Amino acid sequence: PASSLDELVALCKRRGFIFQGSEIYGGLQGTYDYGPLGVELKNNLKQAWWRRNVYERDDMEGLDASVLTHRLVLYYSGHEATFADPMVDNRISKKRYRLDHLLKEQPEGVLGRLYRAMEVEEGNLHALVQAMMQAPERAGGAMTAAGVLDPATGEPGDWTPPRYFNMMFKTYVGPVEDEASLAYLRPETAQGIFVNFKNVLDSTSRKLPFGIAQIGKAFRNEITPRNFIFRVREFEQMEIEYFVRPGEDEYWHRYWVEERLRWWQEMGLSRENLVPYQQPPEELAHYAKATVDILYRFPHGLEELEGIANRTDFDLGSHTKDQEELGITARVLKNEHSTARLAYRDPDTGKWFVPYVIEPSAGVDRGVLALLAEAFTREELPNGEERIVLKLKPQLAPIKAAVIPLVKNRPEITGYAKALKARLQALGLGRILYEDTGNIGKAYRRHDEVGTPFAITVDYDTIGQSKDGTTRLKDTVTVRDRDTMEQIRLHVDELEGFLREKLRW
Ligand code: ATP
Repeated sequence: PASSLDELVALCKRRGFIFQGSEIYGGLQGTYDYGPLGVELKNNLKQAWWRRNVYERDDMEGLDASVLTHRLVLYYSGHEATFADPMVDNRISKKRYRLDHLLKEQPEGVLGRLYRAMEVEEGNLHALVQAMMQAPERAGGAMTAAGVLDPATGEPGDWTPPRYFNMMFKTYVGPVEDEASLAYLRPETAQGIFVNFKNVLDSTSRKLPFGIAQIGKAFRNEITPRNFIFRVREFEQMEIEYFVRPGEDEYWHRYWVEERLRWWQEMGLSRENLVPYQQPPEELAHYAKATVDILYRFPHGLEELEGIANRTDFDLGSHTKDQEELGITARVLKNEHSTARLAYRDPDTGKWFVPYVIEPSAGVDRGVLALLAEAFTREELPNGEERIVLKLKPQLAPIKAAVIPLVKNRPEITGYAKALKARLQALGLGRILYEDTGNIGKAYRRHDEVGTPFAITVDYDTIGQSKDGTTRLKDTVTVRDRDTMEQIRLHVDELEGFLREKLRW
């Protein structure tokens, strides 16, 4: 695996996986562009998720809701009031930080002084942040007195009182920029699922339990985007809202934690690097009954890859009309605008109730980063040279196979290779590349580095011009395996079966 983010960033730029957004104008912080190989890897990961969660199940429907979101959706969901992170400024360096991130980076002595000053039990960072946000003036003074260091300068700072910063991106819909035209870029895909609950239910006649799955962009004005594509301002999520009967929620929550852990392993992440973390009660979001985060050992640390929350009837209960008739258990805002009853009528008893929901919510970009980190391998070869190999699961690799003509100046060979590429491409297994840059050794090395599982070489034997004067190897090619570097010789008619077998899900 990669030992640092830097070596991944370098590989991604060098080989065309990921670039800084708006790079030629100095970069737009917190945005990244996926290049020729990155877009393939990302699409493959999303397709694998969709296949598993929509196509292979009989209790799931897909959805693609809009990014632009009505203000009331994010008012009733609670985002307008509470989707905020605590932020603090250093008056000396003028640098701004997310409070919990800043505190995590402090030396023990500094933190100890802060715990004592705020009278919080030592070691509970979450409680410390909460205490600080309840007494911001005192907290700002305590940070300065405790000598909280500014990571940018390494010096103690003069800290302002911390305050909340709402992370939603605002925009205006239509030509007039006023309160009435205010809308948001969605900060999560989930709300699009909740507000479409009745549409999906009415159009598909689903029975509980069933889920709705969605992949799409989300936007958060993060205070400090960092760690490459780990924390960005524009990212993608793969989210499921799985609706269940109250009382069956704990069972389904456990089920989804197991299922999601299993799936990430099938994508190639090793079990040792995946850590399920049960949030203690004091860390839980106000709407959650239980949350298990799946943490991954990223090169920069053990951090969240996916969160799986039991959100009870909070979401549908928040967005439904007729709230008082539905026996909602969660604490919700009184809804005076919704036109839809987001509830379920029990087919046996005829009684209406609001389903509970289990939400497995994964970040696509964090998934890509984890796959890259896990696959990155430095190997010493027998001849003492080093090679970098991206040991991606073949199904996820950006390029499935490279078809390489041994020489570039023999039209029989290049023409054969081009025709073979077209024939293999037509199988629909993903991208097959005709590769005629550099010599064969360079081509192998490049494809090792971008994770291409198979390199297929067309040579003199292939066109019936073997050195021994025979044509017995006509229409055979060599197939080189990325991981073992071993080469086998196959008849071109065997390639379809070979590739299908190796690339099937
Ligand atoms: P964090 O605590 O790291 O800020 P979160 O708990 O706010 O994350 P959720 O709201 O649970 O994240 O979002 C679900 C998933 O979306 C996360 O597990 C993560 O994979 C992804 N995600 C959230 N914020 C970002 C971001 N700024 N950049 C990239 N991915 C993100």
